Amino acid sequence: MHNPLFDALFAPHSGSSRPLLITGSDVVTYDAFLKLAARLANALVHNGAEPGDRVAVQVSKSPEALALYAACVQAGLVFVPLNTAYTPGEVAYFVEDASPRILICDDSGREALEVVADRAGARLMTLSKDRSGTLMTETLGATDAFETVRRNPDDLAALLYTSGTTGRSKGAMLTHDNLLSNARELVTAWRFTAEDTLLHALPIFHTHGLFVGCGVILLAGGTMIFLGGFRVDEIIDWLPRASTMMGVPTFYTRLLEDAHFNRRLVTHMRLFVSGSAPLLATTHGAFERRTGHRILERYGMTETGMNTSNPYEGERRAGTVGFPLPGVELRIVSQSSSKPLPTAEVGEIEVRGRNVCKGYWQRPEKTREDFCADGFFKTGDLGLVDRDGYVHIIGRAKDLIISGGYNIYPKEVELVLDELEGVIESAVVGVPHPDLGEGVIAAVIFSAGSQFDQAGLLQAMQNKIARFKQPKRIFVVAELPRNSMGKVQKNILRQRFIDTFE
Ligand code: ATP
Ligand code: MG
Repeated sequence: MHNPLFDALFAPHSGSSRPLLITGSDVVTYDAFLKLAARLANALVHNGAEPGDRVAVQVSKSPEALALYAACVQAGLVFVPLNTAYTPGEVAYFVEDASPRILICDDSGREALEVVADRAGARLMTLSKDRSGTLMTETLGATDAFETVRRNPDDLAALLYTSGTTGRSKGAMLTHDNLLSNARELVTAWRFTAEDTLLHALPIFHTHGLFVGCGVILLAGGTMIFLGGFRVDEIIDWLPRASTMMGVPTFYTRLLEDAHFNRRLVTHMRLFVSGSAPLLATTHGAFERRTGHRILERYGMTETGMNTSNPYEGERRAGTVGFPLPGVELRIVSQSSSKPLPTAEVGEIEVRGRNVCKGYWQRPEKTREDFCADGFFKTGDLGLVDRDGYVHIIGRAKDLIISGGYNIYPKEVELVLDELEGVIESAVVGVPHPDLGEGVIAAVIFSAGSQFDQAGLLQAMQNKIARFKQPKRIFVVAELPRNSMGKVQKNILRQRFIDTFE
């Protein structure tokens, strides 16, 4: 094999006049996209990038930004996409960590990032929202042919940083084989073909939008409606031209809040996928009542790509993430003894398979800590496998609350809270408590039409869960702190309410 990822995702489409990307103003054919990628690859190499070098990229979503990924793969470079929301101070951390040969940013960030690039010995190039910039100027002069660089399945294709929900972001070393094997499983599991048009409103600096969304479409030869971000009105306008959509749970809750989002708009759709954060069973139900579609929820992470998925055919069970994908082994182990647990018991989720990354970039200790001797990766998530084989995510091991010596899973409490009159959504965390070690508190979003009554809510929980699990205090918040993937940032909540029991 020549270059596993390039040969599967990109090379087969050479010369094809089929559309890869539809943007508001443009259609980019596969052929035009591949020529753009080749020009970019030439420009990168011209600027000193050699096989194995990292190329860090913090730019707006655009055809050029995706072509940069293709260019890196073709030139044997390691693609390092960075969240566009990161400030220059934050980017400095990633640049120091990844030590890229080239750093590409929007022109507006050039001044602030010049010192960052200098310090790391990286060359700074720009690609702006309007598609101008020094990188683009160089590509104009470059030829649109590039000889693909040979790679092994085990060579790195990307260094992808985790979202930083539970601590400092870590760079996951993803190989050609990791990305290709996972994309192949998803194409099969979700029945993607060249006939598909994916409504793509996710960012492309994260595994969901880049390796799942773009990965399956490139492999299947389909088309993407490539939107800069998620806007309900835009989604409603484009839905008639799509066959599938992938989103984080907030996409679905926001669509449901809009009365224009109705069954007629989506009867032609083949599939809605959700992931990156838990989809509430209530959202799943409301979506089905409104549209007749059952959202397919799956579970994955930066380090592993996708691990489990609800079935395409068969029951998509709300509140679960389905079954391990073919090739993925999944086990639930005890947090205390690390021994595998029986069916339906809650423990830490571990996975093994071709999808699992090589380890953390320049963090041999963290890698040793998170990988078992037999190759299983410790996801840091708590879950169970029910009698029918469906995997349930209970939450993150780090969010487990230990109060008075008892283990409390925040999700169990949240599910009870969410059922109560007036509660739209909740998040439960543990904060320091003088007697109990940690005390349970809840933050809830409360319906504007109802009267918040803490005592009444606590009373209503009395017979539903054990007393030690019940929140000691309930706070009303306007919104839950979320990152760009819709994940609730419990560390921020904990910080906010840290003095509750002092
Ligand atoms: P960090 O590892 O830096 O703390 P992170 O884990 O949020 O950040 P990602 O790799 O982007 O970074 O997210 C993976 C996590 O997202 C999973 O470990 C899991 O907790 C959560 N997740 C993904 N899909 C689902 C899902 N369908 N249901 C519940 N949780 C999910
Ligand atoms: Mg993580």
